[in-house]
Amino acid sequence: MEDDQTVGGSGPCGRHAFPPDNAAGRIARPMLPSKDACPLCHCSLELPLPYQVTVFENRAPAMAHIPGDAAVPPTQNVFELTAPARGRCDLVVYSQQHDTKLFMMPPHEILCLVEAWRDRYRELTELPEVRFVSIFENKGREAGMTLDHPHGQIYSFPFLPPQVQAKWQQTQAFGPGPNGLWDRIIAKEARDGVRVIAQTDGFLAAQPFYARYPYEVHVWARRDGVCSLLEMTPQERRELAALLKNIASRYENLWPDAKYGFPTLMLMHQLSKGSGVENYRFHIEFLPLQRSPDKLKYRASIESGTGTFLNDALPENQAAELRAAAPQNLAMPNVIFS
Ligand SMILES: [Zn+2]
Repeated sequence: MEDDQTVGGSGPCGRHAFPPDNAAGRIARPMLPSKDACPLCHCSLELPLPYQVTVFENRAPAMAHIPGDAAVPPTQNVFELTAPARGRCDLVVYSQQHDTKLFMMPPHEILCLVEAWRDRYRELTELPEVRFVSIFENKGREAGMTLDHPHGQIYSFPFLPPQVQAKWQQTQAFGPGPNGLWDRIIAKEARDGVRVIAQTDGFLAAQPFYARYPYEVHVWARRDGVCSLLEMTPQERRELAALLKNIASRYENLWPDAKYGFPTLMLMHQLSKGSGVENYRFHIEFLPLQRSPDKLKYRASIESGTGTFLNDALPENQAAELRAAAPQNLAMPNVIFS
């Protein structure tokens, strides 16, 4: 999935209109404008006032609010299936500092970002047409980022996307309690230990035994019932902010002089609707697209065409590298890493 943008044109006053109800018009959106023309800096037409974190609907949405019934004749013919692209696409600007990155932001600013994600997630999940809300970031131009200004996105789907559907079905198949899917994954990683990267009272970060990408890291909420940001306590949200900085900093520390800047996909997985949703577990996936200082990891034919991933190294070995790339001076009040 490629990155999104809000406004474009030749400068802060430039503005393009995009079709609001499908993704096809996104082909016209601008690409990597210069810093002077950045639409996310606070002097732009889009964001004229100073801000710390801001969220607004994307002007080049793949999905959008469609008023009324927008009736589409029902059909059983799969070659004629069509439906309006209902949903929402938001853009989240992390900071008004154009040249910063998540790993560079002070923990208290990342906590503000976590609170903004949580507030918007609540609003979006309350919409009747929304089934699943995905908070994500494409970091780095090789990851599809088309604006250098630090930002992420939120896609609100009217259905469960295929991979989420598979996770949901597995969650239901394992059932509740300590034998549930997520408690068993967390227990295995904690017991094995060799793939653990960092942990707090509320979260465990590890390169999972089922990693698909080199240096892939998942962050799981430990507590039963935390199926989204909404169930987290203030302390857990502080820990999450600190862990985000922790993991992002390790990637930056790994190869500081590398050809690429560790392009990485980051996705938040959470559910808030459906019977038994309390058995789901909030987790974040970091999916790096770099496998060595000068080589990228491509999702090539086999991965794209069959869904079968070929990992180029053992997660245990790469986890050791990430543990050794620990950040310094990561201070967050009341957050203790172990
Ligand atoms: Zn900017």
